[in-house]
Amino acid sequence: MSNESRKPNVTYSAPIGSVDLLAFKEDGTPHEIWACPDCLPWHAEVVRVGGEFMVREWHAVDCALFQDLIKD
Ligand SMILES: [Zn+2]
Repeated sequence: MSNESRKPNVTYSAPIGSVDLLAFKEDGTPHEIWACPDCLPWHAEVVRVGGEFMVREWHAVDCALFQDLIKD
């Protein structure tokens, strides 16, 4: 099967999905936020989930980095 058969949609208008990441490591080190190099609609927000601060990153659903983040 050719890689050309389906190109990932990572444009600004692509469908997006979110993943929540801990804002701090266990030793208190802050989670560094870098713009995603693989998709254009990437953005992040800080949310509070059950009293814990989390960084919610939004990526294009097809983004390779996003797929990597949500696979486990
Ligand atoms: Zn991305």
